[in-house]
Amino acid sequence: MTTSYILNQLGEERGNYFNAVSPPIIQSSNFCFDTVEAFQKAVLDEENISIYTRGKNPTTDILAQKIAALEGAESCLVVGSGGTAVSMAVMNLLNAGDHVICIQKPYSWTFKLLTIQLEKYKIETTFVDGKYLESFEKAIRPNTKLIYLESPNSLFFDLQDVEAITKLAKKHGISTILDNSYASPLCQKPIEMGVDLVVHSATKYLNGHSDVVAGVICGSKKKISEIFKGEFMTLGGIISPQNAWLMIRSLRTLPIRIQKSSESAQKIVAFLDNHPKVDQVFYPFLKSNPQYELAKKQMKMPMGMFSFQLKTTDINQIKAFCESLEYFLMAVSWGGYESLILPTCVFPEEANMPNNIFRIYIGLEESEVLIQDLENSFSVISER
Ligand SMILES: *Cc1c(COP(=O)(O)O)cnc(C)c1O
Repeated sequence: MTTSYILNQLGEERGNYFNAVSPPIIQSSNFCFDTVEAFQKAVLDEENISIYTRGKNPTTDILAQKIAALEGAESCLVVGSGGTAVSMAVMNLLNAGDHVICIQKPYSWTFKLLTIQLEKYKIETTFVDGKYLESFEKAIRPNTKLIYLESPNSLFFDLQDVEAITKLAKKHGISTILDNSYASPLCQKPIEMGVDLVVHSATKYLNGHSDVVAGVICGSKKKISEIFKGEFMTLGGIISPQNAWLMIRSLRTLPIRIQKSSESAQKIVAFLDNHPKVDQVFYPFLKSNPQYELAKKQMKMPMGMFSFQLKTTDINQIKAFCESLEYFLMAVSWGGYESLILPTCVFPEEANMPNNIFRIYIGLEESEVLIQDLENSFSVISER
C-alpha cells in the first residue's frame, strides 16, 4: 500500500455518503437499529458496528484505518490525547506487582504515570539509560512485564537500538511499547522492528496544525481488541468526531509537512553546530553524534526536532535571547506549522539541568528566515 493510497483512499467508502470527496463528520453519539436481531448482533460486536460513539464512530474509524496502515499495524485505536494513549497501553499490559523497565526521562506525564499513578497499584519501574542494551539486560527481573521505549527520547533525542531491545524482550517474554511521536510513522516503523504497541501523541506531527489534542495506539488485532474491550471502553478517553475529521484532513499533507520540517531542521542544525555562541547541539543525525549510524539504520529520515545548549549561562542573556526571537514562538508542544523554542529553565522539575538548554521544533517557515531569526537573537548575547 502506498502512502498516498493510505492518505487519499483507505477507509473512504464515498458511495456511502453521496460520493463526497471529503468524508462527513458523523457528529452523533448514538446509532439506531431497525430490528432486534440487528441490535443484538451489534451489541455482540461493538468493536466493528457503531452503537455508541464511546465505542466505534464511523468518522474516527476512517482515521484509525489510515493510522494503522501508516504504522504497518493490523489495528489502531484513536483516543483523546497522547497521554490517554500511553496510559491505556501501559495499563493494559500490567497487573499489581509487575515491574517495568523504562528509558530515563521519558515524556514528563509518562514519567508521572509510571511513578505517581502506577506505584499506587504496586507496580515498580526501573529507569535506565536507553543508549545501552546492557542497561535493559541488567534491569530485568522475574516479574518484568514491560519495556517502555521512546526513540528518539524527549529533550536530548537519544535513541534506543529498537531491534536489539525487542529481541531481548521477546526472549524473556516481556512486552514492549514505543512512543513514536518524534519520528512519525513516515520516519520509523517500530512494529517492523518487533515492538508490540506503538503510541503517539497525535497532537504533534500527525495532526500538525496546533489545533487538535489526540493520541493513537497501534498493534496486533488481538491486542488492540483487548484494549478496546478493556481500557478504551472503560475509561472512555475518546476523540470527538469533529477532531477525528480535522485529523483526516491533516493527514493528507503529512508527507510534505514532515519532509519540510526534516529538511529545514538539518540546515538549522548545521548552522547552530558551527555557531560561536552555541556550546552543543543534541541531534542524532549529526555526524559527530555517537548514535549517527544507529539513526541512519533505524530511521528513514531525520526528524525536525533537536535541542541545543548556549555557551552563556547568564539568565538575563538567556531571557533576552528567547524574547527577541520573532518567528520561533515560545511554547510547549510541537509538530505544527510554526517553529517553537522551549527554554528548559521554565520547568521546576528540570532544576538540576543547566539553565541554557533549549528544545527547538522546526515548522514550515522558510529555513533562511529561521536562521536569520536565530542569528538576530544571538546578537543580543554579548561575547564574554
Ligand atoms: C506531547 C507528547 C505526549 C503527550 O501527548 P498529548 O497529546 O499532549 O497528551 C507523549 N509523548 C510525547 C513524545 C509527546 O511529545
